[in-house]
Amino acid sequence: MDFSQTLIAKSDAILHKWVEAVYEDEQIEATQELTFNAVRDSLPRILKALATVLSESATSDLQTVVDASLEHGTLRAEQGFEPEEIAREYRLLRFVIFSFLEEDLLQGSAQEVLRAVRLIDTVIDEAIARCFNSYTQGRLQELKQLQSQLRLTNQELTRLVRATKENLSHLAHELKTPLTSIIGYADLFLRQQRQQPELKDTYANLESIERVLKSGRLLVRLINDTLEISRYDAGQMKLHPAQTDVRSLINSVLEMIEPLASGKELSLVVECERAPSQVNTDPLRLQQIVTNLLSNAIRYTESGSIHLECWTVSPQQWAISVTDSGIGISLDAQTKIFNPYFREVTDSKVQKSDGTGLGLAIVSRLVQLMHGEIKVDSQLGKGSTFTVILPLEAIAQV
Ligand code: ADP
Repeated sequence: MDFSQTLIAKSDAILHKWVEAVYEDEQIEATQELTFNAVRDSLPRILKALATVLSESATSDLQTVVDASLEHGTLRAEQGFEPEEIAREYRLLRFVIFSFLEEDLLQGSAQEVLRAVRLIDTVIDEAIARCFNSYTQGRLQELKQLQSQLRLTNQELTRLVRATKENLSHLAHELKTPLTSIIGYADLFLRQQRQQPELKDTYANLESIERVLKSGRLLVRLINDTLEISRYDAGQMKLHPAQTDVRSLINSVLEMIEPLASGKELSLVVECERAPSQVNTDPLRLQQIVTNLLSNAIRYTESGSIHLECWTVSPQQWAISVTDSGIGISLDAQTKIFNPYFREVTDSKVQKSDGTGLGLAIVSRLVQLMHGEIKVDSQLGKGSTFTVILPLEAIAQV
């Protein structure tokens, strides 16, 4: 029996049924946006070639199977098929072919049936192998294109980030000059007004000037802090270590910060008996760390006290901690407070406070530069403790 005739006669119906089955298979998602013809593509050629292989009279046309399957694989790669989806569509093809040939096969001799089944299987296996081959090539090609596209995008991004950083620092420097003059003149104006009380009431905008001053100062601080961060990130922040008297440094910070605490009726408690008398560190940077931690403690505390403690931890290290009885920091925020510009705004008071979200980012960078460590321990509504551990002897920078 020549099953190839049946295959040729029924090829349209087989193809139709197969495309339908592929469409209906929920696990072949790639067909969802494809037309009937796009799914059908090179299958008629494979089927026709398969018929020649089955035919005893015609010369086997295996080359067409190979070519058509290679084409099929490339197309499926373009159409976004997954390998499992291709395997499923071929399984469906095998199933459809056998269901259409079943009637004829049942009439053939066992030998004829075996030969036909073996040939159909071989041809479909060959088709799958070729199809996967070109499919993989297609996918690899796509990956290569994607990779070079990504490399270009990455280069472009790096260039942009570098340019933006340079622009930002430049802009910040440019902004600083007019701002300093605004603040200077507003300050001078205010002082003159205070010395002439009789004129005071005639200037209804005195309060506005005070606001200008306050905002101007905040802006200058923001700019300075941003510059500080970018200097650190560019590796330009350097330490200048010197023998430093810890207690006198802390006292001078306290003197500076005392008016802020008394303005909110907060008591400042200092315990530095166990502090090392001398450490080798950058005094200006240390002052910056202590000032930042103390001003935060005051900013985020409405009542109670601020506790500053320092002590020698080991022959190599010493520590300083600042504890407040303020609003506290949530567990989630504790992981973010050292990121630049992060602020945990719990209420409108916090929002209106003169924070910039940069203080702790600078502190943590300075501590890192000093080869130290900073820790936070806090509970919402109860208060916070920031502890900084530093080496007694400044470690040389590399
Ligand atoms: P800011 O200028 O906003 O204070 P910081 O970087 O110093 O910026 O702090 C980041 C955020 O961490 C603050 O906005 C605040 O939400 C929280 N925070 C810092 N210190 C304290 C503190 N002592 N008590 C409660 N929250 C704090």
